[in-house]
Amino acid sequence: MAFTLPPLPYDYAALEPNIDARTMEIHHTKHHQGYVNNLNAALEKAPALQSKTLDALISDLGAVPDSIRTAVRNNGGGHWNHSMFWSIMAPKAGGDPGGPFAEALKRSFGDVAKFKEQFNAAASSRFGSGWAWVTADASGALKIESTPNQDNPLMEGRYPVMGVDVWEHAYYLKYQNRRADYLAAWWNVVNWGEVAKRFEGRGK
Ligand code: MN
Repeated sequence: MAFTLPPLPYDYAALEPNIDARTMEIHHTKHHQGYVNNLNAALEKAPALQSKTLDALISDLGAVPDSIRTAVRNNGGGHWNHSMFWSIMAPKAGGDPGGPFAEALKRSFGDVAKFKEQFNAAASSRFGSGWAWVTADASGALKIESTPNQDNPLMEGRYPVMGVDVWEHAYYLKYQNRRADYLAAWWNVVNWGEVAKRFEGRGK
């Protein structure tokens, strides 16, 4: 069973003006599709791994043969990261989180403003291409981290609640080199309901 590109849960233009339609279309149909295609091509060489879930696959890269491990890391990570990314954005979203996730943010960072400041700092200072993340441990304690390329905290045994793509392909058409402007706009499309669901489902 090959991996497939999940449809976007909204139109390409739905996140305008924060994220432009052309960027969303290229990001989804070219970049994300490319990760899916390359992952499937790599796994043709290891049919026993084809029945694994994506989570299981990228959580245990040691089980992947040397000859395709880098391809699975980059493209399995790319598939996982983008699938999560589309789901935690939505039109008419943004604002402040509520419920148990907001409480966890306050416990870990003091308040939502301090959390956003630290998250923006991690996303802004990631050199080159990568992601910034919020991860949770089993107790619900949250941590901000960032990874290069398409790496994912699951590869290090930590659960990613949310993350932002800071590859230039995520923002260059509209924001060019202004990553900070992209990040400021990105908060307007964060789907806190979905983030809360991911937080509450951690480790399951
Ligand atoms: Mn991307």
